[in-house]
Formats: sequence, structure tokens, C-alpha cells
Amino acid sequence: MILLFLILAGFLPRAGTAPALNYGPPPEASDYASGIPVITYHQITLHRSTYSATPARLRSDLQRLYDAGFFLILPMDIDDGLSRVPFDRRPIMITFDDGWEDNFRYVEEPDGEQLLDPDCALAIVNTFIEEHPDFGRGVVFFISWDKVPFGIHTEEKLNTVLDMGHCIGNHSADHLSFTKIPPSRYHEQVIPALVSFQHRLGLRVSDINVVAYPGGRIPSGADAESTLASMEFQGRPAVIQGYLVDGAVSSFKRIYEQEGFGEYRISRIDMALYSVPRLLAWSNIMVKSNARPSLHDDLPWRP
Ligand SMILES: [Zn+2]
Repeated sequence: MILLFLILAGFLPRAGTAPALNYGPPPEASDYASGIPVITYHQITLHRSTYSATPARLRSDLQRLYDAGFFLILPMDIDDGLSRVPFDRRPIMITFDDGWEDNFRYVEEPDGEQLLDPDCALAIVNTFIEEHPDFGRGVVFFISWDKVPFGIHTEEKLNTVLDMGHCIGNHSADHLSFTKIPPSRYHEQVIPALVSFQHRLGLRVSDINVVAYPGGRIPSGADAESTLASMEFQGRPAVIQGYLVDGAVSSFKRIYEQEGFGEYRISRIDMALYSVPRLLAWSNIMVKSNARPSLHDDLPWRP
């Protein structure tokens, strides 16, 4: 009787009540912290032009991004919920547009041996990620076929890029802006580019399913995304992600909540116009967490 009184009065635990577990503060998971910056370069050269960056600039950008706690992701990581990204790192995707020769160049030694030009984009990236293995590995080369991709030896170079663990994306057949042609003609830019890739890569063409729109834009309200989403090449979706150049930072919220088509409007930042220090000052870049409260807790940036 006394026991029943104590239970009713709340002094003793009742069956079925478990003590509240304290996992500590939740990881930072707000929109504020969920930015997925995707940056883009074009030519990497000492010859300055509107869209170029110097080899020294690329090296210093990589170092600054590494020092700021970033981790390299590839397009497939966005579909995987960024599960490859270590908990104490924040994701970044690095892309190179057009397939310029200075992105992947060989230099000939006096004895005739072909060596990777240490100042080409590929060599700069490879050297940095070999020296910093915790930076992740892999960047994206978006290739357009209005010129010879990488200047020369295209077949060997495209295969080598994939062998090295980097990603190749589709930057169209003729580099025509998708705002200047109707969506009904997008396939004329997407599919012939895939045929060109297939001639050099064979079955590996199935790895190429993301598009960077030439000129960096697609029209809104013109069925652009649904047209891209319905396009097929050899029985597979021809385009599963599309990349703009709009100087913004995408988030999972933006990618997954735009009526199902957010993956066709992933933002990119043109590094000819922005600097890494400026990028780091933006509040929508993902904030690093101090610790993961529990192994069973979601990573803070899961969709
Ligand atoms: Zn381009």
C-alpha cells in the first residue's frame, strides 16, 4: 500500500518510463549551416583572361580551402547524402569547365618521355591531394565538344582522368547557351556529346550523367528541368544533375525541395569573379561541428 502510494505520488519510477538520455546539444543542422559550395574554374594559365586563374592562384585556393576544413566531394556524393564527408569537415566540389588544354597537358622531356605538366590543373590538384590525403580526392572536368577536349590525345586523357578517380561531366556538344535554344532542342546538345564520350570511353560513358549548362543558366518556367530529367541515353537517364553558374551556394533544402527538380539547378560560383576569402565569409557555408554526439545520430547535413 505504501509502495503504491509512492508510485502514484511520483517518487518511484513506474514500469515503462525510461530515463531521458542526454546526447548533448544537437549538431548544427539548420539551413544556415547546410551550404554545399560548388566552385568552378576555366583556364589555368599565366596568360590572364576574363575566365582564367593562374597556377599559383589555384594552388593557394586549394590550400585555403583545405585549411578552412573543406573536403572534396563529387556529384555522386550529393545523391549519397554526403556520407563520405568526415564529420568534422565541410563539403566542397571543385569543377573545371570546357576541357581546356591547360587543364590536362603533357610536356615532353629531352629523352622524349611525356610528363604531366606540373602547372596544368590536373597536376596541381593531384599533387595537392597526394600531399593532403585527408582532403578527399576528386574534382570534376565538364567537357564541351566545340573544340578538341584537352587539346590533344583526348581519348587517353579522358580515360586517365577517370582512372585517377576524378569525374567527367557533360558541358554540351556545341557550347550553346541553354537559354538560347528551346528545351525541345536540348537533346541536340546533350546526346551528341554523350556519343562523343562513348567513342572515347566505351562503357564508361555510363559514368557521365551530370551537365554543366553552357553559359551557366537555363530558363525558368519553360519545362527545362522536366525535359532534362526525361532524356535518356542507352536506356539510362542522360542527365541526373544540372549545374548553373549563379554565384550562389546550394543547400540540400534547395536541391531536394524545388518540386523534384532542384538537382537540375545546382548553384556554382565562378572563381574568376569570387575569391576563397570572400567565400569563407558567407554565412551559408556549412559550419563545422565540434563532435558527433552519437554514432547513431545523423550527420548534420543529411537531407
Ligand atoms: Zn563553358
